[in-house]
Amino acid sequence: MLLQNKRVLFILISLLIVLPLFGCSQNSSGLNESEALEGQAPSEDPVSSPNEEETQIDLAEIKANEAGQIMILEWHVIGEKEGRWSRTYDNFRKDLETLYARGYRLVSLRDVATNNIAVEAGYTPVVLTFDDGTAGHFRYIEKDGERIIDPNCAVGILKSFAEEHPDFGLEATFYINYYTPFGQKDSWQDKIKEVIDLGMDLGNHTVNHKKLSQLSQEEVAREIGKMVQMVEQIVPGYKLDTLALPHGINPKDVSWAVSGEYEGISYHNKAILLVGAGPIKSPVVKGFDATKLPRIQVFQEEFDKWLTYFDNNPDKRYISDGNPDTIAVPAAQAHLVDESKIGDKELIIYE
Ligand SMILES: [Zn+2]
Repeated sequence: MLLQNKRVLFILISLLIVLPLFGCSQNSSGLNESEALEGQAPSEDPVSSPNEEETQIDLAEIKANEAGQIMILEWHVIGEKEGRWSRTYDNFRKDLETLYARGYRLVSLRDVATNNIAVEAGYTPVVLTFDDGTAGHFRYIEKDGERIIDPNCAVGILKSFAEEHPDFGLEATFYINYYTPFGQKDSWQDKIKEVIDLGMDLGNHTVNHKKLSQLSQEEVAREIGKMVQMVEQIVPGYKLDTLALPHGINPKDVSWAVSGEYEGISYHNKAILLVGAGPIKSPVVKGFDATKLPRIQVFQEEFDKWLTYFDNNPDKRYISDGNPDTIAVPAAQAHLVDESKIGDKELIIYE
């Protein structure tokens, strides 16, 4: 009755259960197998059934919680100076190191918005976003007569970090405006292509960066649709489908930002980003709304604040079960889940 097309598994786990039902050879847990090899009696293995036991141990041990919160991080200027709206190249590199060391892994915003998060078991997804398309985000330089990506720009730093740490991933969304995105007039179109070739994303930050609240529906559609048109002309088939609201301000009617049409080009935004000020709910949690997603601005104080928040509240943190087809949630947080948001995935609630 709860779910007609989905199977809900209530897996009962107790740290104390010792059910002497199966021998070690049936046990797929490496830990118990090696314990057995060291001569422990099979009857001491906490085994219920081989498959279930594997799921139980994994979820409880890694504290999988796919109803936990996710950070969408936001940078503005990346450059030489540190400030409220700017981050130095070195500090940006350190931000990546910090995230990596603390078990965060990169996912695309689109995948979060559509509940398609694929992260290794035990790790936490994080989304990186960059607003305003400045040169510090993506710059070409000449070296030995060749054009290369400046190793001191966000794209260069992300790329080399991903080469050193392939399991971190290479995902980010760059929110651009219409006029010379990324600031080099001879090469901006190549950058549009290259961001996408690298497997990262471009997002819509509107043509003119105006306050959308002051515009008519037609003007809003132009601000958004003309961007979609521009990128699609450069990279056929690639459609901007997420929007970072300029100044974090919505149009009079949010639906104008969600979808519309301009010169025969239709647009539909799967996610709409605000400017502040906290983590988002998991896409399977009650109240998750992809059309108003808060972000966390990365300057030192704010970044530290949220990292500490998750250190102090580990139960609030999204932790992947490693299987994109299942949504694993501890029983204590099952009340947060909106079952209508599970889609074609399988909900697993565990003790
Ligand atoms: Zn902006």
